[in-house]
Amino acid sequence: MSTTTATTPSGTPAPEAVTPIGLVVLDMAGTTVVDDGVVEQAFARVADRVDLGPTLGRDEALQYVRDTMGRSKIEVFRHLTGGDEVLAQRANDEFEVAYGELVDESGVEPIEGAGDVIDALRASGVSVVLTTGFSPVTRDRLLDALGWTVDAALSPVDAGRGRPAPDLVLTALLRTRASSVAAVAVVGDTVSDVLSGRSAGAGLVVGVTTGAHTREQLLAAGADVVLDSVRDLVGLPAFAGVAAAGASTTAVA
Ligand SMILES: [Mg+2]
Repeated sequence: MSTTTATTPSGTPAPEAVTPIGLVVLDMAGTTVVDDGVVEQAFARVADRVDLGPTLGRDEALQYVRDTMGRSKIEVFRHLTGGDEVLAQRANDEFEVAYGELVDESGVEPIEGAGDVIDALRASGVSVVLTTGFSPVTRDRLLDALGWTVDAALSPVDAGRGRPAPDLVLTALLRTRASSVAAVAVVGDTVSDVLSGRSAGAGLVVGVTTGAHTREQLLAAGADVVLDSVRDLVGLPAFAGVAAAGASTTAVA
């Protein structure tokens, strides 16, 4: 059991304790899946293969990719190509190819304990939905490798707008028939994840420092609490009814 507790003023009930969490919306890369710069490497391969036009230089483009990590990839490419839709779609297709190559070369590694947390939540009756800025092809490729069972996995195209808009979180609520936005927890490694949770009205928004952005960035964006890892999630007061995830991690086939 984690000893992590929500940082709220003494004597004030933690807001996440008021409504039991019935749905957890979990980001993928950097939150439940090790990133290790793979997304950035895939963008670099795209920049090598596709002339993204004169809008931004290569270094500026990569910095933009870092700053906007967690957002819809096609929207990032629309920005990088100065709104050239055909070029943005071509770059996005190439991103899918490059990311797939990197998965083949390096494999897919879960954040330690993430699979156990998902299993513990679902065993306690809490729905789990994975969300990502990747397209469905890349998302399903990751899920196949991880072998996780979840209630849904959503890409921006499934919801409308990508993060930081609230669409992915609200679509997850509709898909799982969660009781209210107050019963939804959103967990992610980027400012965009936190903003999407806040704008959806989620009862609990959790940042994790296993990915793109720092504790300070995540708190500044409005996270209720920031954890060292998603594996500590069930130690929060809002998950008092969920059995702690086992210490052992499930091997990934
Ligand atoms: Mg992420």
